[in-house]
Amino acid sequence: MTTTVAQHTPAPSTDIASTAIDSTDTDSTDADSTNADSSDTQSSDTASTPAAKTVPERQNLLGMSREQMEAFFLSIGEKKFRAAQLMKWIHQEGSDDFAAMTNLSKPLREKLARVAEIRGPGVVYEGTSSDGTRKWVLEVEDGSYVETVLIPAENGKRRTLCVSSQVGCSLDCSFCSTGKQGFQRNLTAAEIIGQVWVAQRSVGPRRDTANRPVTNVVMMGMGEPLLNFDNVVPAMKLMLDDNGYGLSKRRVTLSTSGVVPMIDKLGDEMDVSLAISLHAATDELRNELVPINRKYNIRALLDACHRYLSKCPDNRQITIEYTLIKDVNDQQEHAEQLAALLKELPCKINLIPFNPFPNSGYETPSRNQTMRFQQWLYDLGYTATVRMTRGEDIDAACGQLVGRVKDRTKRSARYIQSVQLDAD
Ligand code: SAH
Ligand code: SF4
Repeated sequence: MTTTVAQHTPAPSTDIASTAIDSTDTDSTDADSTNADSSDTQSSDTASTPAAKTVPERQNLLGMSREQMEAFFLSIGEKKFRAAQLMKWIHQEGSDDFAAMTNLSKPLREKLARVAEIRGPGVVYEGTSSDGTRKWVLEVEDGSYVETVLIPAENGKRRTLCVSSQVGCSLDCSFCSTGKQGFQRNLTAAEIIGQVWVAQRSVGPRRDTANRPVTNVVMMGMGEPLLNFDNVVPAMKLMLDDNGYGLSKRRVTLSTSGVVPMIDKLGDEMDVSLAISLHAATDELRNELVPINRKYNIRALLDACHRYLSKCPDNRQITIEYTLIKDVNDQQEHAEQLAALLKELPCKINLIPFNPFPNSGYETPSRNQTMRFQQWLYDLGYTATVRMTRGEDIDAACGQLVGRVKDRTKRSARYIQSVQLDAD
């Protein structure tokens, strides 16, 4: 398996990994530090207080939604409107330095520096492909790596960031290299929005809405976003917030392999664009490629798509992702089955030629076969786009991002062992 990590600069926060993971959940804000006047005294008295361990850590403001940020300011005895100011500094100016926030009074800046911080993931690798695709390998709190990729299109007018939601993935789709690495943990909201923050900081701050460094976000990196709902939703809300990244809901896409109850839950919370990783038009084949289909079959999945669309106020379509795998799902009968299946669903189809990885057991169809498949769908009334692989020279194919996963499920160890056995 290829992992493109050129160098490794240890993140300064590695030592606080275990406490940081527990504390990034900002719920502690309200409970622990509501005594606004005493919070300053508490932090400065740390050394002389025997019960120093009870002093709250500096809170990381990066992943806080607007509501959480407002609660934080109230908790330190400040006005709610400060939240909007801070969010602009963090997400639009890309700042992590309170001292530079010149529209805040000096005492407030000093207070913030004592009780809070803005801590993004550490960048261990940054590369640009010959086709303009940029990739960042980021070290998150426990020393795992995740990747995020910025893909330019339409002469640079569109810049789509592919964002990860988990370290690894538990769903084990048979053609996915992330799945082969096993699952370690959910990313926090700060680590998810931190990917957008890092990319935007590298490209340049957002000075005006017409010239955004990141114009679109797709939750198509490592992990199944709907299995990390509680962190993914606040992070996506920051993507949409006018004081955050200000993206329209049509430009933020969540891709799921089909966690049906969570599609319903998502529809109750927000109406971002939805992409479904279908890949097969019969349950028999989909059970093999996307094992979660054994729990939520194709009918249940399509019904959930209809329910989701019915909650969107505008004329929305679902994006159907279909990874084309040679001799597995790329024949004319598969195109016919797919067209028949999607007859009732307002949707567009995105064909993704399989991105190979060692010992996957699958092959990529020829370019001609891909075009034939596209033409069959066209003849059946569907315009399907083909997503060409981008950033190949920096190993940045979307949906194929590989980080460094400390694999609790040991699946990657078993996988590597099987690969070695095959090679013998
Ligand atoms: N877990 C989510 C999002 C991440 S994967 C999901 O499954 O939808 C993003 C897309 O890349 C999915 O459609 C996924 O099925 C696809 N994908 C994964 N591995 C791939 C590979 N080796 N080649 C082509 N597409 C792949
Ligand atoms: Fe997980 Fe998506 Fe890969 Fe399936 S395709 S293993 S759900 S990341």
